[in-house]
Amino acid sequence: MNATPSAMSFIKSLKCRVFGHKYQVSKSYKTEQQEYQCLHCQREFTTDDNGEIQPLTPKLKRINEVMEKFYIIKQERQAA
Ligand SMILES: [Zn+2]
Repeated sequence: MNATPSAMSFIKSLKCRVFGHKYQVSKSYKTEQQEYQCLHCQREFTTDDNGEIQPLTPKLKRINEVMEKFYIIKQERQAA
């Protein structure tokens, strides 16, 4: 029996459900916000306002990027 790629990813995501995700930082922001990717299922995550890990949605990613921009602008103003 050959395991198809989708079956493999299903097994991997099942492993994540049982054992939890294996997070690896995929992106660090200057705001100390971080994005993570699971080494097993390749899903992406980020931390919310409470510091809890949430699945990374396009909306959360956008918030991270906007916060980063504000942070950089603030830094530049302080330096000037
Ligand atoms: Zn996972």
